[in-house]
Amino acid sequence: MYDLLIRNAVIVTVDPQHRVFENGYIAVRGNTIAAIGAMEELPEEVQAAKVIDAKGKAVLPGLIDGHGHGGHCLTRTLGDQYANWDDMAEEIYFHYTDDDFWYAEAALAAAERLKFGITTAVSMIASTPRSDRLEILQAHFDGALKTGIRELSGIGFSDGPWPKHPHIYVDGIRKETVLTPEQVVENTEKAVKTMNGVHPRQFCIVAPGNLTPRADDTPEFAAWKNREMARIAHEYGVALHTHARTGGIQFTYDTTPEFFGPHTSLTHSTGLTQSEIDIVAKTGAVVFHGPTTRANISVRCPVYEILRAGGEVVIVTDGTAPDRSYDIWRDMKVFQVIHRIHEHDSTLAPPGRVLEMCTIRAARALGIDHLTGSLEVGKRADIIIVNTNQPHLAPFNILPEARLVAHAHGQDVETVIVDGEIMMENRIMLHCDEQRILDDAAAAQSKLFERLGPEKMKKYTTYPGLYEIQSKKVD
Ligand SMILES: [Zn+2]
Repeated sequence: MYDLLIRNAVIVTVDPQHRVFENGYIAVRGNTIAAIGAMEELPEEVQAAKVIDAKGKAVLPGLIDGHGHGGHCLTRTLGDQYANWDDMAEEIYFHYTDDDFWYAEAALAAAERLKFGITTAVSMIASTPRSDRLEILQAHFDGALKTGIRELSGIGFSDGPWPKHPHIYVDGIRKETVLTPEQVVENTEKAVKTMNGVHPRQFCIVAPGNLTPRADDTPEFAAWKNREMARIAHEYGVALHTHARTGGIQFTYDTTPEFFGPHTSLTHSTGLTQSEIDIVAKTGAVVFHGPTTRANISVRCPVYEILRAGGEVVIVTDGTAPDRSYDIWRDMKVFQVIHRIHEHDSTLAPPGRVLEMCTIRAARALGIDHLTGSLEVGKRADIIIVNTNQPHLAPFNILPEARLVAHAHGQDVETVIVDGEIMMENRIMLHCDEQRILDDAAAAQSKLFERLGPEKMKKYTTYPGLYEIQSKKVD
């Protein structure tokens, strides 16, 4: 007797043998995949508490989005044309938010991701993490987890200058506080120590915002920061997740080589030198590349140089502000397009590898491949069903990996199962009230806009040249 049986499906396992069952079944007991195979091997007497007939539909492992930002779903579009977007994000996240904002945003973001088939998500809290209060991180986890998603979030160093003076809201009153670098280390360690595993799908990791030292950091300070972040991640056996760009990898390797390892994720990794590419390849650190992010505009991530050197790359959304989506299906396709165009080679980025970059390879980089990332007996039942019985995907009968990567969208995901529990069925979320999430998000955003006031709001919502061939930035 199984708890759940999905039958008659096209099953893309993304397992080590790359098995695809053209007409297959997958059975779940508790939170675990108990059996998987071709329909003709399914004994007739098999029974299950719940049976889903997925005739002709595609069944895949739940997708993994290895990088996004807590906060961004309530600042989407804001400052789209503002010259100092990073400063705006820092101002909003460190000075104008309360705990309700972080809770409501996290629920909205997790709902968006889950509805696109993402069963495991990584979120960096704010643009660079707010580490002054663990309540913010907990509010984020609480919001995200109520949707049923598996959430990896953490804190670590944000950008200086130090000390920082974040504002908090107590009973609606805005108060300035002080945050020292020593407090960041203390809070990061406390978070990982006390918040990891509190909920079975709550994973607290170490997530410093940037690897590259700021101009006003001394090299000694920057090295100390990185060393402390690596120490905490290693001591508690959790992933180390950061942004990286040219210079930062070299500096950190020269001063803190222990920072790098197979569970170190280097988001963006734009403009890497040959020496930095070699560091990525030899240490096993993984580049988390967001094909649709703005980080690639001024300088590219040398994805194929890294891969050819033997390095590992996975695909992330970097959702969602100001102009991105958590629809990781878009990123899969854009990944193919931008790298094929750059290398003038349509044989690059084959769809099987692209799918792995959003499933098993991402799971491996985050140290959770024993749990998720592929459909294999003994792993957690993180399963999605894609409705291929639609004009843009049917007849679904040739090379399912290629059809899905080229033609599927997040909204084609019909059913989402995490840890053996059906979290969405026929696009209805079952573990939370979707309308309530939307209402809470709207209320939290209204409060934020009110606090920002009309002058700032005008600056962040002005878009000169919206209909011209080239727009202008707002200062
Ligand atoms: Zn990012």
